[in-house]
Amino acid sequence: MADTSVIELSEKAVKNNILFLKRQFGENVLISSVVKSNAYGHGMATFVPIAEKAGIEHFSVFSGSEARALMEIKSPESTIMVMGWMDDKDIVWAVENEVEFFVFDSFRLDKVVSLDGSTGKAALVHLEMETGMNRTGMKSRELKKAAGIIINNPGSFKLKGLCTHLAGAESIANHVRIQKQLSRFGRLCRWFEERGLVPEYRHVASSAAAITYPAARFNMVRMGILQYGYWPSAETFIQFISKKRDRDDPLSRVISWKSRVMTLKKVKRGEFVNYGTIYLAQEDKKIAVIPVGYSHGYNRSLSNQGRVLINGQRVGVIGLVNMNMLIADVTQLPDVKTGDEVVLIGSQGNLTISVASFSEFSNQLNYELLTRLPEGTPRQVIN
Ligand SMILES: *Cc1c(COP(=O)(O)O)cnc(C)c1O
Repeated sequence: MADTSVIELSEKAVKNNILFLKRQFGENVLISSVVKSNAYGHGMATFVPIAEKAGIEHFSVFSGSEARALMEIKSPESTIMVMGWMDDKDIVWAVENEVEFFVFDSFRLDKVVSLDGSTGKAALVHLEMETGMNRTGMKSRELKKAAGIIINNPGSFKLKGLCTHLAGAESIANHVRIQKQLSRFGRLCRWFEERGLVPEYRHVASSAAAITYPAARFNMVRMGILQYGYWPSAETFIQFISKKRDRDDPLSRVISWKSRVMTLKKVKRGEFVNYGTIYLAQEDKKIAVIPVGYSHGYNRSLSNQGRVLINGQRVGVIGLVNMNMLIADVTQLPDVKTGDEVVLIGSQGNLTISVASFSEFSNQLNYELLTRLPEGTPRQVIN
């Protein structure tokens, strides 16, 4: 292994998760696979072809540059939707390449109109409405303006979608706010339809809303974290599973992250390990140095806290996580040798380290740890 660690993606897990989601939502709901932030750290170039094999035909990214990268990866049949940042050049490129994009202020529509049909194509737009999240999304004045621009330039636009984003459907504490958003969304959709602006898709739901609120599915959902095998929150999982007879998690985690033991050493009782004084050996210890640190995405807050799997056993990370290395306590592993496999995320023997168990230690969300896995770490597809 030339690199210090490798990230493996399970094709079987992706298929399982997408099949599960398709069954949940039914045939009339388009699943847009959200692959922003390098497919939540899984690696867009590795993940997208697997998702396509599992039947995904629509992908969402955050920015124009992500869309351009995805254009090189996806099959010609798949569609791209940009939910966030684009500069003027990106807008022209998107129109030329039939890339769909969110419109959350009318500047983007003006930009399209200024192209004056030179691309020979209509812009494929999703109008994002403000319904209570107070982030992106047009308020009623801006929406009226947008509707006017579209009505006055019928050749320049195709209204692909009306959409909004819900403010925290992963927590029941936000239930009232979510319900208010849904009813505002319904009212705004009707306002558009009364003016003859009927979208092909209505969409509001990310993972949590799609799984928890069937009424939020409309005919399209924007699916991020669930397709990678993680629940948006413990609450979402508990709510889902409590209604089922079968209490097993229907999702499979897609990612594994593995490294190797770089070197082993003995430490005498009473000595400190690694920088500073945060770990004192209370007895004679055997330690393994692993060539993964915070620069590789292993969070520093897992110092003295993290767990890794070596020789089929769960062992603790001791001392500080360094830039390129961490140390595990392997005192209890009689047969451990240099070069042995170390599982940072994933399974070995009967044991598993989940990103979720990381997050409990480090107070990070699944989302954050995953998206911080560096692009440079090699990705491999496994069955
Ligand atoms: C990231 C994102 C999603 C996907 O969220 P998940 O919780 O991972 O499913 C959906 N919609 C928008 C607008 C997003 O930015």
